[in-house]
Amino acid sequence: MATDRILSSKARTPEEEQANVALRPAALSEYTGQRELIERLSIAMQAAKVRGEPLEHLLLHGPPGLGKTTLAHVVSKEMGTRLVLESGPALARGTDLVAALRGLSKGDVLFIDEIHRMPVAVEEFIYPAMEDFRVDVRVDSGIHATTVHLPLQAFTLIGATTRAGLLSGPLRSRFGLVHHLRYYDEAELTTILIRSASLLRAPAEAAALTRIARRSRGTPRIANRLLRRVRDFALVRAGGQITPEVVDAALTLEGVDDMGLDELDRSYIKALGTTYRGGPAGLETIAATMNEDPGTLEDVVEPYLLQIGYLARTRRGRALTRAAVDKLGAALGLQYNPEAFGGGGGLFEG
Ligand code: ADP
Repeated sequence: MATDRILSSKARTPEEEQANVALRPAALSEYTGQRELIERLSIAMQAAKVRGEPLEHLLLHGPPGLGKTTLAHVVSKEMGTRLVLESGPALARGTDLVAALRGLSKGDVLFIDEIHRMPVAVEEFIYPAMEDFRVDVRVDSGIHATTVHLPLQAFTLIGATTRAGLLSGPLRSRFGLVHHLRYYDEAELTTILIRSASLLRAPAEAAALTRIARRSRGTPRIANRLLRRVRDFALVRAGGQITPEVVDAALTLEGVDDMGLDELDRSYIKALGTTYRGGPAGLETIAATMNEDPGTLEDVVEPYLLQIGYLARTRRGRALTRAAVDKLGAALGLQYNPEAFGGGGGLFEG
């Protein structure tokens, strides 16, 4: 299954989540990268502390594994308050959310992951809670129906979403701070890996960690996961020391190439390159050819291929770029054809 793959940016098992907790930065100073966000956030937090108020509601959006949950932990720790974790799909009924809100003490942080998947009926409860720290509960029905206003403690809502576009306008507008998390560069991921390797007590050369960083698709969760796989490999096959050679051998065994592409990425490129001659082709069609779920391809394969410039999204569908063919053409048996698609360029099988 696509979500089981080693390069998935989503957490794979509860054990992995456990391992991640140990590697999670506890203070703002340990949070690598996302400079602008951290700067905006530390100003907002200091100001809130001076005023003696909770931090404004914060909306974080961006691909999975980039540190949204981690940041919620860091914020609550820095503010000296409690963190309550919820997720959009798990808040099935309005009463679930009301119970969570009523349990909050002054200044607490309520984190709602995948907030775009919160049912509309539940969302209604959150508006007065965010604006006036109050929930409106209807009692009875029909002509006897009345609304009771229940006060809440002033709290901070941190919403996380991978799809900001799916958030309703009214909900989005109630966040004081909105920020997009971006992919991490190689240097930032190397910094994260140096810290993780030392926490895991895994002896590693800096050059080896840079190699892992390069294959981590800009995502700290993937970087830490690859590090754990490499660490095991080093222990069993190479006396424990993580060297660049050990990284190459371990990740080749895992099917991860030097760009951080795995079997699923390569089969997507191959399907688009051979069956559709480089595209453009619709996502649904490509997914059907691969026997994969289109949503999975859109969430876990395409963002990275778009980011590294291997894929273009055109009005007529997805198309491979020249860069993809230059890099992978020989391995996948594809050649670039500049004449294809009315001179727009395309592929043919070499
Ligand atoms: P998200 O909520 O965006 O899916 P998480 O916050 O769960 O991502 O991050 C996944 C893992 O990546 C965390 O357990 C943490 O170890 C690591 N991580 C994420 N962001 C950072 C960062 N900025 N600095 C160091 N480690 C990070």
